Amino acid sequence: MAHLLPKVRAVFFDAVGTLLFPNPSAPVVYAEAARRHGLFLSLDEVRNRFIAAYCREEQVDANASWVTSEEREHQRWRCIVTETLTGVSDPDVCFQHLFDHFALSSSWKVAPDAEVLLRSLTDSGVVLGLGSNYDARLWSILEGFPELALLRDRVVISASVGVRKPGAPFFREVIQLAGCEPGEVLFVGDDLANDYDGATSAGLRAVLLDPHNKHADIPERITRLAELID
Ligand SMILES: [Mg+2]
Repeated sequence: MAHLLPKVRAVFFDAVGTLLFPNPSAPVVYAEAARRHGLFLSLDEVRNRFIAAYCREEQVDANASWVTSEEREHQRWRCIVTETLTGVSDPDVCFQHLFDHFALSSSWKVAPDAEVLLRSLTDSGVVLGLGSNYDARLWSILEGFPELALLRDRVVISASVGVRKPGAPFFREVIQLAGCEPGEVLFVGDDLANDYDGATSAGLRAVLLDPHNKHADIPERITRLAELID
């Protein structure tokens, strides 16, 4: 993907699934929370329930033209957690526990090749930023990761923009923070619809991070972050 870099002046990264990963994984954390509240689910059951609930909430946001807010993010996660963990003895306590858990930097890990990549891009004069469908919890997570300090000056969070990816207003905010032309901004993310399609529809360049080779048909695609500068 290094061929793209001479044309770009700014690189913005998605957060979850691109630079940041739940550690332990989300299914493990959900299954443990469920178990403590009397519900025993296998990791596959958690995964399947989560995906179904997550997709339903994606549709809710699509129907609302991707409008979001801190309140909507809170409600969205409440629906996803409550549906995923249907059958627990105390859904409210369970939700609050999980919502708080994912606000802690100790619940996350950074992609191992992120720090070297960000340093290398900065050294070559590229402006860096973060563009995430998340909420104010992202700030407390970032505090715990000095490896991501180079991104902190330009952070676009959907709940504060008021529109989430793949909505065009989200990417307009990215372009404005990048301070250059749309075609000079490269957006890197792991979600085909939200990151890749959203960014290209808004006139940005995009690269899909596709570690499991699910989208071999996408022309601008990497399986590891480091491939951006290989
Ligand atoms: Mg992602």
